[in-house]
Amino acid sequence: MKVLVPVKRVIDYNVKVRVKADQSGVELANVKMAMNPFDEIAVEQALRIKEAGGAEEIVLVSIGPAQSQETIRTGLAMGADRGIHIEAGQDVEPLAVAKLLKAVVDKEAPGLVLCGKQAIDGDCNQTGQMLSALLGWSQGTFASGIEIAGDTAKIIREVDGGLEHISVNMPCVITVDLRLNEPRYASLPNIMKAKKKPIDQLDAAELGVDTTPRLTTIKVEEPETRKAGIKVGSVTELVDKLKNEAKVI
Ligand code: AMP
Repeated sequence: MKVLVPVKRVIDYNVKVRVKADQSGVELANVKMAMNPFDEIAVEQALRIKEAGGAEEIVLVSIGPAQSQETIRTGLAMGADRGIHIEAGQDVEPLAVAKLLKAVVDKEAPGLVLCGKQAIDGDCNQTGQMLSALLGWSQGTFASGIEIAGDTAKIIREVDGGLEHISVNMPCVITVDLRLNEPRYASLPNIMKAKKKPIDQLDAAELGVDTTPRLTTIKVEEPETRKAGIKVGSVTELVDKLKNEAKVI
């Protein structure tokens, strides 16, 4: 089985995001970028499936600017086999991403697509679900446990009430959640090996997908800054402030 893992280049999760002066979006110039953390978890899971004998090849695909190839290299250094880069702007919307991924699935015929549950820049949480609908495949979302057994995948999902155990038919799309695994660090020899692994280039227009945005961003604003806290001298003072200042009791 071949496993396809879509990996997105996003602002590194440690970076404090700044809004552009003209409020048209967030500042990307000179900002550290990295692989979307949920996609790292998906790559790790694909590697574990391969190491357990459940897959022969792991193919990474990234849609974005030229630097997305660095993101693919990060995954290749973790142990994936090869990459596919589709050149596009930073803000391709989930439906266009899902259509491009469908075109890649039609070409590559993987048995499993492992996505992140959401990209931490747009927080859309849509791509995996849209892809499974376009393919007509089963889906298992927010997976915190995955076991592939023949032509079914057993998935544990974290839901409000606890853990939901589901079984879906393969081929399928699975979106992964935070507690599924802890991604490995790439070793130096693997970083060197990754430099020689192939990254194919595909073109969105040749794949017949229009990536023009359908949504218009009106304005991006910083969240209101939190006011500093205060210390109260007694419970009476606390109750008084909650009642008369905060007006919450
Ligand atoms: P989203 O629906 O944007 O929150 O993204 C969910 C998942 O879809 C991500 O974790 C990635 O696995 C995949 N994905 C979204 N955008 C891209 C992209 N531009 N390139 C590759 N994978 C993507």
